[in-house]
Formats: sequence, structure tokens, C-alpha cells
Amino acid sequence: MRVLRKTSRRLRSVREFVRGLAGTDHPLLVHIIPIRRCNIDCGYCNEYDKVSPPVPTDTMLARIDKLADLGTSVIAFSGGEPMLHPDLDLLIGRIRARGRIAGLITNGYLMSPKRIQALNEAGLDYLQISIDNVEPDEISKKSLRLLDKKLQWLAEYADFDININSVVGGAHDQYARLRAGLLDVDRHHP
Ligand code: SF4
Repeated sequence: MRVLRKTSRRLRSVREFVRGLAGTDHPLLVHIIPIRRCNIDCGYCNEYDKVSPPVPTDTMLARIDKLADLGTSVIAFSGGEPMLHPDLDLLIGRIRARGRIAGLITNGYLMSPKRIQALNEAGLDYLQISIDNVEPDEISKKSLRLLDKKLQWLAEYADFDININSVVGGAHDQYARLRAGLLDVDRHHP
């Protein structure tokens, strides 16, 4: 199943790449925010709060439909923490039903085997997660020690592509350990 989904994703990515070369009359990548609330508090971030409710599902569906009507190639959820939206899987399914590529940017804290399998079923194409340091500090709690189990679950269960980012901060003394840990995850999710 993972190979089939990967092949389908590659073909659709190539189609969108060619469409992007052929014409400039449509958006290539749009980030949409289903909720501004976040479950952690990175020191470098001002794009979240602790109180906002989820954007109503009907509103999100209408926005996705509008982006699809515009011919958007890739629609990616950002935040806040988008996995706090109760209908995220439904929203991902709408992106895929409209023939668009679906992405998710998350801090990974809410990841579990069950949630990963639900994201597979919804049709998620790619996930971006940040791992900023090995040990949590006052700047970032997106740490390898706290998220290592989530990365192992992603390596084991995810059918979608995974991109790991690091926000470069004060943890430069940890980068050799961070790199080694991330390469180990990469080996298990070819
Ligand atoms: S996880 Fe993302 S949205 Fe939440 S505080 Fe950190 S950078 Fe901001």
C-alpha cells in the first residue's frame, strides 16, 4: 500500500510541476490555518495563542473549495497546531477529493499510531515536522528526546512523505547528536 500511494503521489507531483511550468495563473502552494491555538509555546513564535477555537468546518471546506477552484497545486495546513482541529481528516479528504496535494505542518505532539493511520486513510500526501534540538529548552520544546517515539511511529506507520525541519537557534552544540538521531529515523522510512 505504501508503494502504491508513493507512486500515485509522485505522478501527481510531476503533473503539478508541469502545470506550474506551463502556466502562472494558479497558486502553487497555499497554507491555510484551521486553528490558531497551539499546545506548546516556542520562544521564537508569535503565530499562535492559547484561546482560539477551531475555524468552523463549513468555513474551512468553503475555503478549500475556493482554493481548488483557483487551481491551487498544494494546500497545506499550518497553525497554531492544526492537529487540534477536530475535523482535520475530513478537511484533508476534501483536498484530495478536489484533486489537490494535501500537506500538514505539525509539532507532532498529538501523533499516535491511530492518528497516523487516520491520516493515511484521509489521503495526506506529506507532513512537515520540526525537531529543533535534542533536549528541550526555553526556546523550543520540539526536541528529539520528547518526539523520538513519534518519529519512530511515523517511520513505521506513515504512508505519506515526511519532511523534518530544524529551526536553527541556540542549540548548536547539540546538532551532531540531532543529525545522527534524524538520520536513524530516515533510514527506517525510505
Ligand atoms: S509549535 Fe508551531 S505554532 Fe506552536 S508555538 Fe511552536 S512554532 Fe508556533
